[in-house]
Amino acid sequence: MSPPNPPADPSELRLFVLALAFAAEKHRHQRRKDAHASPYINHPIALVNVLVDEGRVHDPVVLCAAVLHDTIEDTETTVEELQSAFGHEIAAVVIEVTDEKDLEYHERKQRQIEHAPGASHEAKLVKLADKICNLRDILAAPPASWSRQRKQNYFDWAAQVVAGMRGAHAGLEEVFDAIYARRDELH
Ligand code: ZN
Repeated sequence: MSPPNPPADPSELRLFVLALAFAAEKHRHQRRKDAHASPYINHPIALVNVLVDEGRVHDPVVLCAAVLHDTIEDTETTVEELQSAFGHEIAAVVIEVTDEKDLEYHERKQRQIEHAPGASHEAKLVKLADKICNLRDILAAPPASWSRQRKQNYFDWAAQVVAGMRGAHAGLEEVFDAIYARRDELH
C-alpha cells in the first residue's frame, strides 16, 4: 500500500473551497457548448480532477488558478477582484491563461501558441489540463454545430500549444498525447 497523502493544510483547503464557490457563482448563468448544455462549472472542476488525479499536482496556487481560469475571460470578473480575494500569485496565473479579449479569434489562438513556451510552470499546468479537458469534451460530447474539420483543427491547434510546453509535466503530456492520438476517431 502506498503511504497516505499528508493532510491538506486547512488554510489552503479553505482558499480552494472559496475559489470553487467564487467560480460557481461567476459562471452560474453559463452553459458548455455540448449538446446537453452542461453547467459551465463542470469544466473548471474537470481541470482540477485531471491535475490532482492524473497529474498528482497538489500545489494550491495551481488548483485555485485552474478553478478560476475562465473567470476573467468568460465572466465580468476583474483582475482586482481576483487579487483581493485570492492574492496576487493566483491572480497572476489566471491572467497568464486568459486570452486578450479585444483580439479576434484567430489572433487570440495564435497568441496562445506563441505565449505557451514563456508561461510560468503553474500556468503551463493549467493550460495542459485545459487542453486535455477540451479534447476529451470534443471526443465525448462535442458542440452540436462543429464539423469534423473544425474539431480536427481544434485538436491540431491544442497540440501546437502543448508542443511549446513540453517538459512541464511528463505525465500530463502523456495523457494529452493519448487523447490527441484519437484525432482520427472524430466525425
Ligand atoms: Zn477552460
